[in-house]
Amino acid sequence: METVQCHLCNGKMEVLEVLKYNKTLGISFIILGILLSLSLAGIVFGIMFLIIGIVMCSSKKEVWYCSSCQSIIDRGIKE
Ligand SMILES: [Zn+2]
Repeated sequence: METVQCHLCNGKMEVLEVLKYNKTLGISFIILGILLSLSLAGIVFGIMFLIIGIVMCSSKKEVWYCSSCQSIIDRGIKE
């Protein structure tokens, strides 16, 4: 298991998976998408919003998390 040292408390930092985007925002996009899809004129935008919302709710990123001081550091893009 990969670990790094915390720069704040010298504790062990572990890899943690968190949501990449704000979940509330992602859900708002999905709801907006569904509402727009109800009308024929808005269906193209509706589907677009729906896809953006789903991507936002399912995208995750890895961060370094320190269990001693609860600090989180962005791990960057996973290879
Ligand atoms: Zn720490």
